[in-house]
Amino acid sequence: MLLESALKERGEPVYRARQIWEWTTRGAGGYAEMTNVPARLRAELRELVPFSTLRVVEEAHAKDGTVKTLFTTHDRHAVEAVLMRYRDGRRSVCVSSQSGCPLTCRFCATGSMAFGRNLTCWEILDQVLHFRRTGVLDHCVFMGMGEPMLNVDEVLTACRRLTDIGITPRRTAVSTVGWIPGMRRFAEELDEPVKLALSLHAPDDELRAQLMPVNERYPLHDVLAACAAYHNRRRRKVFVEYVMLAGVNDEPAHASALAALLDRAIYKVNLIPYNPTGDFEGSTRERIAEFKSVLDAARLPATVRLTRGREIDAACGQLAVLRRLPSPRPEPDSRRSP
Ligand code: SAH
Repeated sequence: MLLESALKERGEPVYRARQIWEWTTRGAGGYAEMTNVPARLRAELRELVPFSTLRVVEEAHAKDGTVKTLFTTHDRHAVEAVLMRYRDGRRSVCVSSQSGCPLTCRFCATGSMAFGRNLTCWEILDQVLHFRRTGVLDHCVFMGMGEPMLNVDEVLTACRRLTDIGITPRRTAVSTVGWIPGMRRFAEELDEPVKLALSLHAPDDELRAQLMPVNERYPLHDVLAACAAYHNRRRRKVFVEYVMLAGVNDEPAHASALAALLDRAIYKVNLIPYNPTGDFEGSTRERIAEFKSVLDAARLPATVRLTRGREIDAACGQLAVLRRLPSPRPEPDSRRSP
């Protein structure tokens, strides 16, 4: 790739690429900081190899410490990533795997913007590295724009590289609507114990298909079989995401059906307060607590997700870039390699 070939052409020793990658993973902001790389080479690289595949367009800060960054790729596709900060000092980054999303889940804002394309592993990692420059990161979740299992090669490569940035596979999670071919590859090809999260949102096919048209293609029974296969191989719990929509999927009867559907040896449920994106209303706190108590009584592990970044539209399901991006500076193909 670009960095490697630039180094090779200059007759640089093979360890140079590794040196540069090490600086990058530790949060260097550019070549200038890489003091063990000769100054002449640093200056040349600055001209030849863009330091990131992404350009920052704008950044929004919420009072709770959440930061949402809008980037653009060299070919003008919008990408958003979110940094979440917690009271105990943990910092998690939520990354996009695609620009936009080809799926059309009714409650998710990303589905309403035009689909762009799959992101490369470098475009995924550059979202993480952007936030690494502001401090150490603990967790990474593939819960931004896009369906990771539709871009499985790049997502798996990015997952493996996250370890270099200090985020272990156990602290990495990939979320899917239940795209089975990708889930199979995720379970079979990735040796690292990366977590799997399933966006379920309904306990039966009929309701699920209304909310998530993808259910027509991959019905519940088959999706849960793919989750069980992952669990068998990895021995790790599967996280089920369930967004709480008032009067739609939040009745106690839905909770009972969910408890009957999910094997508590395999699944942990995460109830997600709905973040307003238009067509639905979120369940009240009381309703969510009642729903959870039904799951508790069935001894199905369940938690309620903390909502972050709502005021800057950075919360789950709110990532969508609807306006046109400003035109970027012309840039050479900006693929970097360690
Ligand atoms: N396409 C993958 C990755 C995105 S994860 C997936 O769907 O799993 C984003 C998570 O936020 C998913 O669980 C999604 O269902 C949830 N979500 C979408 N819209 C939401 C909304 N308006 N409020 C709360 N959660 C939402």
